[in-house]
Amino acid sequence: MDHALGHRLRDGQFPAPSETRHTGVLIVGGGISGLSAAWRLAKAGVDDFLVLDMESEAGGNSRGGQSPLVAYPWGAHYLPLPTREAVHVRELLAELGVLQGDPAAARPTYDERYLCATPQERVYRHGLWEEGLLPQRGIDAGEREQQQRFHERMEALKQARGRDGRRLFALPMALSSRDPEWLALDRISFAQWLRDNGFTAPTLHWLANYACRDDYGMTHDQVSAWAGLHYFACRNGEAANASPDTVITAPDGNAWLARALAQKAGDRVLTGATVWRIEENKTNATVDAFFQAKTIRFAARQVIWAAPAFVLPRVWPGIPSELKAAALAGDYAPWLTANLHLSDLPEERYGAPAAWDNVFYDSPGLGYVTATHQLIRRHLPGTVFTYYRALHELAPAEGRRLLLETPRAAWAEGILAELERVHPDIRRLTTRLDIFRNGHAMRRPVPGSLFGGQREKLANFRSRRITLAHADLSGFSLFEEAQYRGVVAAERIRGGNIS
Ligand SMILES: Cc1cc2nc3c(=O)[nH]c(=O)nc-3n(C[C@H](O)[C@H](O)[C@H](O)COP(=O)(O)OP(=O)(O)OC[C@H]3O[C@@H](n4cnc5c(N)ncnc54)[C@H](O)[C@@H]3O)c2cc1C
Repeated sequence: MDHALGHRLRDGQFPAPSETRHTGVLIVGGGISGLSAAWRLAKAGVDDFLVLDMESEAGGNSRGGQSPLVAYPWGAHYLPLPTREAVHVRELLAELGVLQGDPAAARPTYDERYLCATPQERVYRHGLWEEGLLPQRGIDAGEREQQQRFHERMEALKQARGRDGRRLFALPMALSSRDPEWLALDRISFAQWLRDNGFTAPTLHWLANYACRDDYGMTHDQVSAWAGLHYFACRNGEAANASPDTVITAPDGNAWLARALAQKAGDRVLTGATVWRIEENKTNATVDAFFQAKTIRFAARQVIWAAPAFVLPRVWPGIPSELKAAALAGDYAPWLTANLHLSDLPEERYGAPAAWDNVFYDSPGLGYVTATHQLIRRHLPGTVFTYYRALHELAPAEGRRLLLETPRAAWAEGILAELERVHPDIRRLTTRLDIFRNGHAMRRPVPGSLFGGQREKLANFRSRRITLAHADLSGFSLFEEAQYRGVVAAERIRGGNIS
C-alpha cells in the first residue's frame, strides 16, 4: 500500500461525497482476491459490479513493471504446479491457454513458455553456488541421512489424510483436514516441530527458515508448525511435461495473471480510488472513495472487502466488535523489494550456473530472480534482477519504521554491497535501481493464528451486505489462497455453496 495514502486513511481527512453512483456489487481491492471475485461474478453472468483499488494499477502484491527490455515483478513471482484441489487455479490457467487439455487431469500439459526453464534455483553458500536449494557440499553422512528422512517425511505428508478423509495440507488451505491431532501443530513453531522430530541438521533448519522467510516473511521459530509443514507438504501438483517441483512463472512473475484478470474485468476496474468509509444500511451499503481529487459515494447492494483485514476497522465505523477484534488480531510482515536494471548479465564465478531464483544462504536478503531467465533463447542487451528481503529480524512495527526511515540511497547501497559478493561487477552494470517498501505485505502465520478462532471469524464473516475476501482470510498469502477467497466471496453473495 502506498504509505502516504495509507497514513491519510488512518487520519481520515477526505472531502465529503460530491456525487453518488449505483452498482450491484462493489469490490474493494483489486489484488488477486478482488480480481478473482470479479472473474467469478463475470463468469456467472453478473456484470453489474465495480472493483476499486487505491493504487494507480490493479494487482496488489502481484504487480509488475516494464522496462524497454523486459517485464519484471514487484512482488509475487511464481505458482507451483496446481494441486488437484486448486480447481480455480487450473480453470484460470486453462482459460488463459497455459494449462492445455483437461483442467482436471492428474498431470496436465502446460505451455512451456510458462514452465520455469532450468536451472530453476541455486544457493550461494561458503563462497560457492550450488544447484538446487538444499546444500550438499561438505555435509557429513548424518546430515545427509536427515535430509533424506525429511524429504521422505514430506512426501508421506503430501499423501496423508486426516480422520475426516481430507488431505492434511491442502492448497487452498480451507480444504485441508480439520483433524484436531494435526491442527494442534498450529500451537507450536515450525523450528520446534523439527527439533521434536529429530531434525537438527543445520542445512535442514536453514531450508525451513528460508521457506518461512520466503513465503511468510518470518523466521521458522516464529511460524506456526502447521504453516511451515503446509509449505512443504501441500504442493503435490504434477505436469505431463515437467518435473513436479517446476514452477509456473513469467518474466514479470505473477503480474501477467493479475493483468489477465484485470483485463477480463475491463473498465469495471477503477484505479486510484481509495475507499475511506463504509456504511451498511437496510437497503444498501455505501462506500465512499477518494477518486480524482473528490469523494464519490458508491451505493451497492453488496460489498466484497478484498483489501487487507487491518484496514477494515479504519473505514467501517459500524464494524461489529468481534470482527474488529479478528481483523486486528494479526500482524503483517514488512518487505522490501528492489529492481536492478542491468546493462549486461553480471560476471559469474564459483560453482553452479545462473538460475531463475538465486538464493543466498547467509545474508539479509533472500536473493534475486532474473526476469530474462524465461527468454533464454533470445539475446538481450541486459536484464532485470528482482531482489527480495523480508525484515524478519525485527518486530513488524520496528521493521516498518526501518523500512520508511532508512533513505532510499542507504537501501540501494546495502543491496549493491550484498549482491557485489556474488557479482563483483554489479555496480558498474546497474543502470537503474528502484526500491519498493511494503509495510503490511502479508499476514503473519504465527503459532495460534491459523486455528485459534480469530482467522476463522474473518473467513466466515458475512453480514447482510458485506462479505470478506483477501488472502488474510487464510492467515498467509499465496496466489491460490487469494484467488480461492475471492471466488468464495463471489459465490456467497450469489447464494452458491462453495465450501
Ligand atoms: C514480496 C512478495 C512476494 C510474494 N511472492 C509470491 C509468490 O511468488 N507466489 C505467490 O503465490 N504469492 C506471493 N506473494 C503473496 C501475494 O500477496 C499473493 O499472491 C496475492 O497477490 C495476494 O492478493 P490479495 O488480493 O489477497 O491481496 P493484496 O495484493 O494485498 O491486494 C489488496 C488490494 O487492496 C488494495 N487496497 C487496500 N486498501 C484499499 C482501500 N482502502 N481502498 C481501495 N483499495 C485498497 C491494495 O491497493 C491492493 O491492490 C508475495 C507477496 C509479497 C509481498
